[in-house]
Amino acid sequence: MSVAQAVMKDWLTKNAGQTYGNYIAGQWKDADSGSLMARYDASDRSQVLGHFQQSGASDIAAAVAAAETAFGTWSKRPAPERAQVLLRFAELLDKEADGLAYRCSAEQGKVLAEAYGEVGRAAAEVRFAAGEALRMNGEVHPSEKPNMVNTVMHQPIGVIGAITPWNFPIVAPVRKIAPALAYGCTVVLKPASLTPWCAVYLMELLEEAGVPPGVVNLVTGSGSEAGNALVTHPQVRGISFTGSSELGKRINAQAAGQLKKTQLELGGKNAAIVLDAESIDGAAKQIVGAAFSCTGQRCTAISRVIVLKRHADAMEQALVSEMTRIQAGPAWDEKVGIGPLIDQGQLESVQHYVQLGLEEGAQLVCGGEVLTGANYDGGAYMAPALFRSVQPHMKLAMEEIFGPVLCMIEVEDEQAAVEAANATVYGLAASLFTSQHDACWRIADKLECGMVHVNHGTASQAHMPFGGVKQSGYGAYSIGHSNMAFFTEPKAVYIQY
Ligand code: NAP
Repeated sequence: MSVAQAVMKDWLTKNAGQTYGNYIAGQWKDADSGSLMARYDASDRSQVLGHFQQSGASDIAAAVAAAETAFGTWSKRPAPERAQVLLRFAELLDKEADGLAYRCSAEQGKVLAEAYGEVGRAAAEVRFAAGEALRMNGEVHPSEKPNMVNTVMHQPIGVIGAITPWNFPIVAPVRKIAPALAYGCTVVLKPASLTPWCAVYLMELLEEAGVPPGVVNLVTGSGSEAGNALVTHPQVRGISFTGSSELGKRINAQAAGQLKKTQLELGGKNAAIVLDAESIDGAAKQIVGAAFSCTGQRCTAISRVIVLKRHADAMEQALVSEMTRIQAGPAWDEKVGIGPLIDQGQLESVQHYVQLGLEEGAQLVCGGEVLTGANYDGGAYMAPALFRSVQPHMKLAMEEIFGPVLCMIEVEDEQAAVEAANATVYGLAASLFTSQHDACWRIADKLECGMVHVNHGTASQAHMPFGGVKQSGYGAYSIGHSNMAFFTEPKAVYIQY
């Protein structure tokens, strides 16, 4: 075991196993149910990370009441002061990177290097959001009347219900909390049941940064109880939800019944189009990185490679060569490139698709098997899989698998490549690999998705709008200036002088 691994293991032994409350109005409180849920290390299920509150509607009601009260003062706090609090929070994220990354890697199962990357990304997004507090610009318009000024100002909407998934336990909550605070809203966070530990630590850091009681509240518990109570609470003015498309549609329908605003970041089935032979080697490296980081459990994971038939053999070879370099194993092991899936249920779900692919007639080129043996005892591991001879209409090519499975679709020409890329209900991200300058613009224009990456994988940046079209998203894109459309409402003010 290396020094770094030993340090993390030692840290876990000292810090794991505690019981955590909900964070409501600046106080740590037990849920009314009196029940707890345990969470385990994804790489070693024998290690209990912590016990978390199993909350219900009454706990959500208390948190929303605290957030509603705090909104009165936080929304009136001058924007530069809100920005200063966020900048202190960003500094703390940097300072506490070790503790955050260890928690993230343990509860989520992503390798430690990726967990550190997630902390850095979260800090960058907080800094961008801090700047946004100072960019809540209004407008001045010409008036129909003399001696009148027509203005539009933007005002925070109120309490935000933030519901997050388990694949990014730091970035997903921060991506909602930071802009909400910048624009003057307050928050009740319900994190995924599988990853509450990072969320607890984020509350501690927000408090240390000077976020006043009630401005951000945390309620842990199941989606069906705590999540549903948050979505349907009448005082919650906006729901920012990241998760599966099916659930997003249900939540959107519920919110619409109360005319609540929604911001939905949903699933993806992201394509990489590879157009020419000279792009293949560079593309393979980028595609494998984008397909298998976070063990393929990313909404923006590349899961389909669309390649011209004449380049398919070379593409397959290049992908296999990259894939065989990735070693699977416990997330804390520095040699490992791909950690476990989040749990046994997710492994079974991905294995179902591996079987389905074979039944549908796709050819399994490499990987796909469940990994067993001493190194894999503690978690849910599989070898990253590559399928070839995949047809665009197969379920393997249409449905979000959310695991380390990559499909190769072979097409005759550029037009067929674009049609195949657009052939799913999803529209989140896409990559395009080509040396032809005109093809970049032509194809980027035709791809039905929210983000296009030319000659690199599907990695977004901390100040750019992030979101999807079709069933990958709804409402304002998160990150970037586009967020203001969700967290604020315009108010037209006419001033006669
Ligand atoms: P999920 O099953 O849809 O759950 C997401 C969140 O919703 C969790 O906190 C969950 O709580 C909660 N929830 C469950 N039922 C609910 C209900 N009836 N009312 C309110 N909330 C409820 O998604 P996941 O499995 O955690 O995450 C994977 C999905 O997220 C994938 O589809 C992925 O593509 C998507 N995702 C999208 C983005 C993006 O930005 N587009 C980013 C990351 C992930 P429990 O954990 O307690 O069930």
